[in-house]
Amino acid sequence: MVTTTLDTLVAFTKRRGFVYPTSEIYGGLANSYDYGPYGVQLLKNIKDLWWKKMIEEREDMVGLDSQILQHPTTWVASGHVGSFNEAMVEDKKTNKRYRADHLIEAWAKKHDPTLVVENLTFQEWTDYIKKNDIKSPDGNEITEPKPFNQLFETAIGVVSGEKSKVYLRGETAQGIFANFKQITDSCRVKLPFGVGQMGKSFRNEITQGQFVFRTLEFEQAEIEYFFDPEKTDWKKLMDEWKASMWSFISGDLGIDAAKLRWRQHTDKERSHYSKDTYDLDYEYPFGWKELWGIAYRTDYDLSQHMKHSGKTLEYVDSATGRKFIPHVMEPAVGVNRMFLMVLADAYHEEDLGEGKTRTVLKLKPSLAPVQVAIFPLQKDETLRTQAREIYGTLKKHFRVEFDDAGNIGKMYRRQDEIGTPYCVTIDYKSLESGMVTVRERDTMKQETVLIKDLNHYFEQKFTI
Ligand code: ATP
Repeated sequence: MVTTTLDTLVAFTKRRGFVYPTSEIYGGLANSYDYGPYGVQLLKNIKDLWWKKMIEEREDMVGLDSQILQHPTTWVASGHVGSFNEAMVEDKKTNKRYRADHLIEAWAKKHDPTLVVENLTFQEWTDYIKKNDIKSPDGNEITEPKPFNQLFETAIGVVSGEKSKVYLRGETAQGIFANFKQITDSCRVKLPFGVGQMGKSFRNEITQGQFVFRTLEFEQAEIEYFFDPEKTDWKKLMDEWKASMWSFISGDLGIDAAKLRWRQHTDKERSHYSKDTYDLDYEYPFGWKELWGIAYRTDYDLSQHMKHSGKTLEYVDSATGRKFIPHVMEPAVGVNRMFLMVLADAYHEEDLGEGKTRTVLKLKPSLAPVQVAIFPLQKDETLRTQAREIYGTLKKHFRVEFDDAGNIGKMYRRQDEIGTPYCVTIDYKSLESGMVTVRERDTMKQETVLIKDLNHYFEQKFTI
């Protein structure tokens, strides 16, 4: 099977209205992308599905929407102010900045393939770069690694200075911990239970060229699942969450399981408070990379917020009266990384024989930005009116697009490219027979269906 390159996906998504470089008219903005009309719909469909499966369909989960700007002490308590650091190096000639671990990783891929970059300490990175004389991607000398904090800072009000300093959140998770007490006080939740939240996070990323995989502004979908460590076996709980994550990606999003794998963090790589961490990796066009992480974070976060706020975040067991700080399991995924995975997985260039090819996005019908496209076969007012009538009826139930802008071949090709699973064509025969032609995207097979049955026909198709 041919692997789609990142360049192919970047060009395709721009041409077909999925993803545009941010501020392109001004020359662009590093590591930033906007989502076009089809992209925003695909993104929304992925998010809606996550919310439905992880929150709505579970009895033990509730949702939350906390703010991007939070009290700055939040980020002191979480450790982000002190240690949300990446090791950065600078090209001595061009002054471009790079993450040291990314340069080492790229070098090691060719010359030292067994190296696990995450196992090295800061000092070991410095020594490794020196020993191997690692250069920048432009072939120039680089500086020694320096710590670089990834939190974005801004200020509230008109007076600048320490008092007004706030941060754009570096992750959504901390808003869940900060609201833990309010949730237990105001809702009927009992351990074990989880809180899920989706929203924008911001990180000052300096590594370029990974498209929507690594951006300054991105969306996370994070869960903090609280439990009593005396009553719940964390290993079993972790296995259950891992199974839910896998089933969401391979089942609900329909991703090829051969491109998914679990990777356990090594002892050196894992955060000091975490007892065990796994990454669910996907094989992106640029290699195996983290899509979704799961970490057992003990009672670290709630304890930290207790210490810094001076408020108790203990839980009282209503049966025994025992007071304790709950432990937490954290499955955290990037929505934009799911989006890129869905596109990479669905993108196919098919050989149709006789030198002909077609590009087709084999998205699950539930995810497709457009589910049904309606065309009149010819540019004729009567056919057009009939087609628009069908369009008007179906669009109340499905995501439907009307098109009469080209010949039928061109219109099919365009819909194949944006992943539309069904196209409906109205021709002169339809006016007499009350039947239309429905063409399926993947098989390109056609069948005739009564206009009055179309709604029911698609309802059945989209429940699969
Ligand atoms: P990485 O090692 O790739 O920088 P991370 O381990 O720092 O990621 P986490 O802090 O665990 O990431 O964040 C949870 C999830 O948020 C990640 O699994 C990833 O899907 C997503 N994510 C993190 N940083 C970015 C980013 N800059 N752009 C897009 N998604 C991101």
